[in-house]
Amino acid sequence: MKSSTHAKLAVATLTLWLPLVSPASGSSERQLDSHEHGVSTLKMAQEGKKISLELEAPGDDIVGFEHKPKNDAEKAAVEGALAKLRKPETLFVMPSAAGCSLAASDAEFETSKDHAGFHVTWSLICETVAQASSMQIGFFDAFPDAKEVEVEAVGSAGQMSAEVEKGTKSVDLSSAFGN
Ligand SMILES: [Zn+2]
Repeated sequence: MKSSTHAKLAVATLTLWLPLVSPASGSSERQLDSHEHGVSTLKMAQEGKKISLELEAPGDDIVGFEHKPKNDAEKAAVEGALAKLRKPETLFVMPSAAGCSLAASDAEFETSKDHAGFHVTWSLICETVAQASSMQIGFFDAFPDAKEVEVEAVGSAGQMSAEVEKGTKSVDLSSAFGN
């Protein structure tokens, strides 16, 4: 059990993805039909003092359904989830020493023919990026049906990726945001 409390660090791959969060338009349509229930993805990119984050989470993990809300209860569930997702400071928490503040936040619930998911982008401005060397995970407390977050980060120190499982309390980002 103890090992499940630690992120399994994967060897950094040479795969590069654009170190900028792309505009919401269309960027997650490709994701919806290929997503795996239980698995969210979080991409992080640091440029100077700015850290951009992009989360894709299956609707199943967040609200327990994957269709356009059909009634008031489902509408309320989606609105409640969007409200939580707009506040990364409770989901993915940077060390206070990094001095990060939220500069932008956008969350949407998107549906395709067979699936639905949440697409969220955040921008943080961090006064001391070198201190953004770890991140505390509140995501699983907020969304108990979520089981894993695949984290990828790229920044001035390099890149990292990790499969962060439920129960994990923090993720080491020092190989991405070290300086
Ligand atoms: Zn799905």
